[in-house]
Amino acid sequence: MKVRYSYLAQQFADCEDLWQELRAFVPTGDFTLGKPLREFERRFADLIGTKHAIGVNSGTDALKLPLKALGLGPGDEVITTANTFVATVGAICEIGAKPVFVDCNDTFCMDVSLLERAITPRTKAIMPVHFTGYMTDMNALMPIAQKHGLPIVEDACQSILGAIDGRKAGTWGNAGAFSLHPLKNLNVWSDGGVITTNDDKLAEELNLLRNHGLAGRDTVVRMGYNSRLDTLQAVVGNWLIPKAVDISEARIANAAHYDKHLGALKQIRIPPRIANMRMVYHLYIVFAEDRDALLKHCIDAGIEAKVHYPVPIYRQPALDFLGHKEGDFTVTDRHTHEIITFPCDQHLSQEEMDYVIETVRSFYAKS
Ligand SMILES: *Cc1c(COP(=O)(O)O)cnc(C)c1O
Repeated sequence: MKVRYSYLAQQFADCEDLWQELRAFVPTGDFTLGKPLREFERRFADLIGTKHAIGVNSGTDALKLPLKALGLGPGDEVITTANTFVATVGAICEIGAKPVFVDCNDTFCMDVSLLERAITPRTKAIMPVHFTGYMTDMNALMPIAQKHGLPIVEDACQSILGAIDGRKAGTWGNAGAFSLHPLKNLNVWSDGGVITTNDDKLAEELNLLRNHGLAGRDTVVRMGYNSRLDTLQAVVGNWLIPKAVDISEARIANAAHYDKHLGALKQIRIPPRIANMRMVYHLYIVFAEDRDALLKHCIDAGIEAKVHYPVPIYRQPALDFLGHKEGDFTVTDRHTHEIITFPCDQHLSQEEMDYVIETVRSFYAKS
């Protein structure tokens, strides 16, 4: 049996209703900052529970623009986590700021107990990453940020509809960043991103920044960016928004099935499942004994298992200039040897999941 990682062929195999909407949209020519985009932004804000949602051209820009709008630039430090997708750190570097790392815990998010010692007089923002569908412990993080007067930009790109105590990812900080990349839980047919905020002033600034700093047609009040979410992609987004909750529910159910059966194996450790947290399993990761051999066994058996990531961002060659070396973030380093990611998406069948479970079981039974 083959268990594929990408489900995109299935997700959009049957979407005649979406094609009809696209066919109706194209002749309007309303391609930039069009009506479907405004609709999408309203509905996205309602979905997450913020006052504003601003569509931008990627999740990376959804991180970058709030930093810019908050006044950050060269010489400033932004605190984030030692293991995340490159885009988090890319956004910080793009505005000329310096990424400062904090180690993760076994939820793959920032170990907030280590945050305060990373704060310096140059720290100007905190960018917690709600990685893999977990959330950073925001109840612990918020008071520290407040005490130091630091704004928060949440990287919620992997955790749409994740929540702590019912309060969703992207509603805690000054701004939240989401990605609509094809491989994210709420995905469009290209790149795309959304910024959420409850702050009217920040929303106004972000609306300017994403559209060249143009206030009206002829006045440039800021030097901004061309970072609009394509209205065509907003049509796709509008089609997906009603499905978003079901998508996350399906992933949660799949993860529970895996947890039950993989967790029964003594060589597999399930990461902590936190009672007051809604985890949405953008990635389904467990800790595995003899991980490299297990990974090979799964791939040989046709299962597209992965490692997120074999080399964490803090040790990537592009960041050599920061002077880090292996051992600087010990939990993140340990994870690189233990973690394995299995497909967990909403299109996975029961048979495919059971095949994954059986393949893992047979690996440990043999060894
Ligand atoms: C996907 C992702 C982003 C943004 O990526 P884009 O491809 O620019 O949309 C940022 N942070 C994390 C953790 C991500 O997974």
